[in-house]
Amino acid sequence: MGRASRDKRDIYYRKAKEEGWRARSAFKLLQIDEEFNIFEGVKRVVDLCAAPGSWSQVLSRKLYLPAKQSPDSKDSDLPLIVAIDLQPMAPIEGVIQVQGDITNARTAETVIRHFDGGKADLVVCDGAPDVTGLHDMDEFVQSQLILAALTIVTHILKTGGKFIAKIFRGKDTSLLYCQLKLFFTEVTFAKPKSSRNSSIEAFIVCENYSPPEGFNEKDLHRLLEQIGSPSGADDLDCSSGWLEGPNKVYIPFLACGDLNGYDSDRSYPLPKSADGSYQSLDPVQPPIAPPYKRALEMKKASNHGIQGVEKLTLDP
Ligand code: SAM
Repeated sequence: MGRASRDKRDIYYRKAKEEGWRARSAFKLLQIDEEFNIFEGVKRVVDLCAAPGSWSQVLSRKLYLPAKQSPDSKDSDLPLIVAIDLQPMAPIEGVIQVQGDITNARTAETVIRHFDGGKADLVVCDGAPDVTGLHDMDEFVQSQLILAALTIVTHILKTGGKFIAKIFRGKDTSLLYCQLKLFFTEVTFAKPKSSRNSSIEAFIVCENYSPPEGFNEKDLHRLLEQIGSPSGADDLDCSSGWLEGPNKVYIPFLACGDLNGYDSDRSYPLPKSADGSYQSLDPVQPPIAPPYKRALEMKKASNHGIQGVEKLTLDP
């Protein structure tokens, strides 16, 4: 798809470039905020799986920049925003970057160290593995990322704090809901308008962190297993078996974002300049070291003959 064609078929892609966001995902977080007011009173945030950085930009614009511009702001009052990803990303004002894997305990420890004993008010996670198109597989890998995010949450989130994360809806959705309800009094599944209906993506919005009394972070996995394991047998699924009749789980599912706003599944005409032409904008900040970079280099080299491919393959 050419850039102008994508601008026409994906209004949020075009709007992201016009408004200076690195990715269209920014609108998802903004629309979740419209519905849930997630930034109210927030001073310390962790952005998990943050690259290329549009959610971190939202955090910077909503929390850090207004505080910095306030006439009576002191350095010690400025919000703390820590962003983590496997990939490096270009700097964003007010955002501390950690490059690492969120499933690795050392990454979690590095994040915790940045908080210097303090706790976070909000943890967001837009993590996604490379999608294979096999829904069960994608849902399972995604659930592992959520589990890693929840592990970090149990170490760093303050009581009463919020956790927002991307999920892929599937047969384990009700199980995930039950697991999250152990830790949060309110759990809602949200579908922002900027997230296409054709996508199984949705977001969990978990409010009021209140772990079970006497909860020890080391027992997280054992506790979750009492409810079931992701992709476990049906009899472990909390939507069946022991939750029947009035106890059956109904998951609150909410569309968010202005319902009269732009529809991510529609094509919109392109705005034309006076001479009738349309000028597509460049991306705001292309990824600085994307995982597909090497594949592109190899493809380019293969256009110049097989020797180029061999040379690249042999390089360390
Ligand atoms: N929220 C981001 C934004 O607004 O720009 C977009 C996030 S993108 C959809 C998903 C990100 O998850 C990718 O940058 C990927 O590198 C990251 N990711 C996937 N698995 C990860 C892991 N195990 N640890 C850290 N980051 C991970």
